[in-house]
Amino acid sequence: MIVWTNKVSIKHGSSRVNPRQIGQVTMSKAEERVIVVGAGPVGLVATTLLAEAGIPVTLVEISTDLPRDLRASTFHPPTLDMLERFGVVPDMISQGLICPTWQFRDREHGVVATFELGLLSGDTNHPYRLQCEQWRLSEMLFARLQRMADVEVRFGVRALGVTQSADHATVEIEAADGSRESLKGRFVVGSDGLKSAVRSAIGVEMEGQTIPEIFLTLSTTYDYREAMPDLSNISYISDPKEWFVLIRTKSLWRVLIPSDPTMSDADITDPVRMEARLQNIVPRSVPYEVRHKTAYRVHERVASAYVSGRVLLAGDAAHVNNPLGGMGLNGGIHDAFNLAEKLIAVFRGEADLASLSRYERQRRKVALDVVQQTTLRNRSILNSTDPAVRLAYQNDLRQTVADPVRHKDYVLRTSMIQSLRDLKSVA
Ligand SMILES: Cc1cc2nc3c(=O)[nH]c(=O)nc-3n(C[C@H](O)[C@H](O)[C@H](O)COP(=O)(O)OP(=O)(O)OC[C@H]3O[C@@H](n4cnc5c(N)ncnc54)[C@H](O)[C@@H]3O)c2cc1C
Repeated sequence: MIVWTNKVSIKHGSSRVNPRQIGQVTMSKAEERVIVVGAGPVGLVATTLLAEAGIPVTLVEISTDLPRDLRASTFHPPTLDMLERFGVVPDMISQGLICPTWQFRDREHGVVATFELGLLSGDTNHPYRLQCEQWRLSEMLFARLQRMADVEVRFGVRALGVTQSADHATVEIEAADGSRESLKGRFVVGSDGLKSAVRSAIGVEMEGQTIPEIFLTLSTTYDYREAMPDLSNISYISDPKEWFVLIRTKSLWRVLIPSDPTMSDADITDPVRMEARLQNIVPRSVPYEVRHKTAYRVHERVASAYVSGRVLLAGDAAHVNNPLGGMGLNGGIHDAFNLAEKLIAVFRGEADLASLSRYERQRRKVALDVVQQTTLRNRSILNSTDPAVRLAYQNDLRQTVADPVRHKDYVLRTSMIQSLRDLKSVA
């Protein structure tokens, strides 16, 4: 049975109940549901895994449709291995771009180190990074959810807060017209992003720092290989004056440039200013065609707890980091798989509630020890201006790729395969 309360039946975010739809969820069954808050990629993965296991799920999303803004686009090998079970990877590959290598470069001197993901061919079914915008995965998962039993998706409703008892957790939701409703379930998954209302409701803090610079991401039709023929599809380019990142998607190049935090978003994304910055990277006689732009503040923060009774946090609601390494979205999807496995065991009576705390111990450790450390180091490599420090970083990267053992170890870690292997030893 498919139960839908979506943008078609609820116009303008009203929470008016469609009798045909809600009538199919009996009260006792309603209380046996998992309520997932936030239909970003992490919430959609968690919902799909739980629904696949036969667990009834209600997914609530504040937007009136799936968000389609320009965000992450890198999928690492183990994430593709995980997503294989949904049958979406062939479509992601056909809509995306396979990237068998990635680089650190020096703006003046060119390639410093090219990392070969083919070294992982014995460790993954996907020995490459796939560049594919995250909204494409969201749409594929959403299409799949529409064919699954006992999944309710409610767009246009905001989760306000969560309360819980020994047996249940309840999410208070509000529609655009101000009407409110309580959704009761056995568990609540907060996958509602950085400003998570679920996290606030359980009193969990995000600990860490905010990166001083604003990140400007834009995409252009210009092919940077014209200026740099040996450019990998993913390149981190250091420069003592201004570093930048170039990432190719199927049809465009994405450019990431740090920006002055004292400027407003409107000033940072002013077309004349953006054009000047693009011309500064590669001067051209014609203007750049910019297709998308986003300026956003970046944090390196991890929630002080991921689990509070029957409420669990995942994805950006639990951890945020800079995008240098493409680890945030991937780590969030890894959370969803880990969490769903444990939640399914509890639902089936194969494990007790206390077993959920291992989810926190495992995934919080990865966020702190791997994701934050790697992304902060990548930022340091790009950001450093001291010639001696820059030389030391670059020599280390050169030596890493020159040594087959170190090279393989490096790509195992930066592709997030090692962090999944290391979880087994976290009790
Ligand atoms: C502007 C921006 C640009 C980014 N660019 C990059 C990048 O270039 N590279 C990179 O690696 N990463 C990037 N990221 C990070 C990456 O997009 C995230 O790691 C990823 O989206 C995490 O997925 P998620 O599902 O956990 O959270 P989200 O994708 O944030 O999804 C959370 C969902 O919850 C919904 N929601 C929020 N509050 C409520 C509520 N109270 N009630 C109901 N629903 C709610 C939101 O509408 C959203 O759909 C970017 C993030 C942002 C914000």
